[in-house]
Amino acid sequence: MATRVLVLGAGFGGLELSSTLSEALGDEVDVTLIDRNDAFVFGFSKLDLMFGHKSADSVRLPYRDIAKPGVRFLQQTVTAIDPETRTVSTDEGTYEADILVVALGADYDMAATPGLTEAGNEFYSVAGAERVAELLPAFTEGHAIIGVCGAPFKCPPAPSEAALLLHEYLSARGVRESCEITFVMLLPSPVPPSPETSEALLSAFAERDIKFMPGVRPSSLDAARRVAVLDDGTEMPYDLFLGVPKHRAPDVVLESGMTTDGYIPTKTETLETRFPGVYAIGDVSTVGVPKAGVFAEGAARTLAESLIASIRGSEQPGPYDGLGSCYIEFGAGKVGRVDVDFLSGPRPTGTFHDPSDALVAEKEHFGSSRRARWFGR
Ligand SMILES: Cc1cc2nc3c(=O)[nH]c(=O)nc-3n(C[C@H](O)[C@H](O)[C@H](O)COP(=O)(O)OP(=O)(O)OC[C@H]3O[C@@H](n4cnc5c(N)ncnc54)[C@H](O)[C@@H]3O)c2cc1C
Repeated sequence: MATRVLVLGAGFGGLELSSTLSEALGDEVDVTLIDRNDAFVFGFSKLDLMFGHKSADSVRLPYRDIAKPGVRFLQQTVTAIDPETRTVSTDEGTYEADILVVALGADYDMAATPGLTEAGNEFYSVAGAERVAELLPAFTEGHAIIGVCGAPFKCPPAPSEAALLLHEYLSARGVRESCEITFVMLLPSPVPPSPETSEALLSAFAERDIKFMPGVRPSSLDAARRVAVLDDGTEMPYDLFLGVPKHRAPDVVLESGMTTDGYIPTKTETLETRFPGVYAIGDVSTVGVPKAGVFAEGAARTLAESLIASIRGSEQPGPYDGLGSCYIEFGAGKVGRVDVDFLSGPRPTGTFHDPSDALVAEKEHFGSSRRARWFGR
């Protein structure tokens, strides 16, 4: 009988894992891929939605397009995970697996920042980005705050990109002079593992008169006074608050007993959890890399190669390498790139590549190649 691999979550990690298993093993493996949504959306597409560069329809990649030997996609919501027996319940059924892979990503904890829902906005979900796109045209004067409300958070450069793209958006509409932009960043610098990247972003902020406040966190928003209260007690009046909410593992993962300090402890080299035959990849796991699609994808590739080797009885691949490249939008059609290495040395390092037209094309290829590989589009 073919090995039954149950993959929970069809994001960067789940899609890459299923695709690699199918390519190598075809019908020799029985992959069930489950996601509650009907379509995948790249994280970076949320910035396109937010600033009205693209429509929601144009960035959705429907899961019904997945046609891969050995893989069946089920649009269902996972409601319980028993890692001891590798049994999973959804709103429509119960599934048992030989190999269980949890790739359910990170959810947002809006309640962790009182006032964020009532008096602010998040731009990290599709719905949130769409809401911001509706609000932005009416923002023609006043103070905009981009605030990171908790760490770790997905794609550390994304709020910097949002600040630069907001500057571009307001400039194009001729209202930049009457608006202030402040970026409140919990981390000490925009991209801590790469001082070069942080420097490039800090000079881009300075050139554009974007105020950068590192090392502080918006802890609540006072809806009545339209004031953001920072964790050092500072009060900042605002007219528009664009927040990165505190992240946490999805409830179903927290309730499964697999987590410690909010996420699934995972062996970096092999992506194993402490439960035999149960693995975790991507944002839901802790393997010592940032929460970003490229890392979820890299972990998925390593795990797939290891599962393929086990099924074929061949030699195990090397350990997960923790390497990844992230593209950074600087506005005005310019894209930079940071190549980060989280695991090979004593501390993470990053190399910056200056914004250029070539990197715009490279980022486009990053998206289109995944679209083709995962969805055949
Ligand atoms: C604004 C923004 C910009 C970004 N830019 C980049 C970038 O340029 N490069 C980059 O590499 N990363 C970027 N990211 C980060 C990237 O999107 C995530 O880190 C990545 O998607 C993580 O992959 P994953 O497979 O771990 O989880 P996800 O891709 O989040 O997938 C998890 C899946 O699990 C599903 N799920 C959750 N709970 C349930 C349940 N109970 N039942 C069924 N299904 C469930 C979800 O629907 C989701 O499809 C960005 C993120 C944001 C928000």
